[in-house]
Amino acid sequence: MPVDEKKNDEPSRRDFLKKAAAIGLGAAVGGSAFSRPASASAKSAFPSAPVPSRIFGRSGIKVSTLSLGGMFDILNNRLMLAKALEWGIDYWDTAESYGGGRSEEGIGRWFARKPETRERVFLVSKLSPRRGTDFTPRLEASLKRLHTDYLDLFFVHGISSIDEMTPDMKAWSQAMKKEGKLKLFGFSTHSNMEECLEGAAKLPWIDGIMFTYNYRLMSKPRMKAAVEACHRTGIGLTAMKTQGGGPVKSDSQTEIDMAGRFMQKGFTDYQAKLMAVWGDKRITSICSQMPNLTILAANAVAAVDQKGLSASDRALLDQYASKTCSDYCAGCGRICTQAMVQEVPINDVMRCLMYAHVYQDVMLARSTFQTLPAQTKTLLDRLDFGNAERSCPQRLPIGRMMKEASHLFA
Ligand code: SF4
Repeated sequence: MPVDEKKNDEPSRRDFLKKAAAIGLGAAVGGSAFSRPASASAKSAFPSAPVPSRIFGRSGIKVSTLSLGGMFDILNNRLMLAKALEWGIDYWDTAESYGGGRSEEGIGRWFARKPETRERVFLVSKLSPRRGTDFTPRLEASLKRLHTDYLDLFFVHGISSIDEMTPDMKAWSQAMKKEGKLKLFGFSTHSNMEECLEGAAKLPWIDGIMFTYNYRLMSKPRMKAAVEACHRTGIGLTAMKTQGGGPVKSDSQTEIDMAGRFMQKGFTDYQAKLMAVWGDKRITSICSQMPNLTILAANAVAAVDQKGLSASDRALLDQYASKTCSDYCAGCGRICTQAMVQEVPINDVMRCLMYAHVYQDVMLARSTFQTLPAQTKTLLDRLDFGNAERSCPQRLPIGRMMKEASHLFA
């Protein structure tokens, strides 16, 4: 699938207009400012009340059920922070790597000008162990960029095995908490999520986890049990990648039909996917990338207005998930990786493709690809992925997609 070089909301807007046309709403939205269907509320453009809160695990801290994902240039979009607070979105998520530091810098600029708001915000940042595990100087640098003395929650960024939560990591987290630099500690994961959650439930020093969780994954028995185990031990849970978008963009009649059914009920299919996750009360918050006010407003409306999905709505999502499962990489990287003779981070490459195709953000896709082991690109072109394809439960055409990634991210 060809991808524009620059970040561009337009293809998604086209999708929305196409869906709207298919269900007879073309005139209603044709001249509107909608830039992405996830943003579109069929009812109201702005939230009528503050976004509700839930308690984050055993910490007892109340945070908004919608978290501002900061994977964008916040330095040049600080209006988003003002609107987020105005609408009750007090859980802000960033990382050392987002926007090459500009995400943290943008939040820091905000706190420098509005120091009185720091205590209102539940601030999360992350460091990737791929760049080494000498975290202390990098944490100091993050705090400096963020213009704060502490993080409310620190995540080890993007683990794929619970073995990465080593005794040294535990000692470091305890030392940082003692120094007052971290309040809570945990990890984020979009690979082998069930295994990571199962392991975390046995580690009493893990306070919180952010993980890929959506309507496609939440009904799988192993995922259900892993979430329950963490919930019971008091680990705070944040869902991400809740739209369940895969590396290949679905653009089928199935999707149009589903959008139409939800539109008739007063919300979009994108809002329905958020509501499905909010329907699981064990999940404290959804972290969503909201790089413009349209998306922020529509997601806030969904958080405020959510009335829960009916059994038939859920069935519709299940049906859609099943029909489009070959569009979705489920993050079970251990399966395809173990099928290969040489180690290739197939799951991570799939995520890069998702950023390019679903988020329409080739810069993000490329910068994420750059963090993968140096030999990855050469291997993508050279290797036979037949065994991995045969082992993939989603039946993804891995070989073709790895070649595509190799060319796209060259
Ligand atoms: S490519 Fe298939 S096996 Fe590999 S992580 Fe994705 S869904 Fe799982």
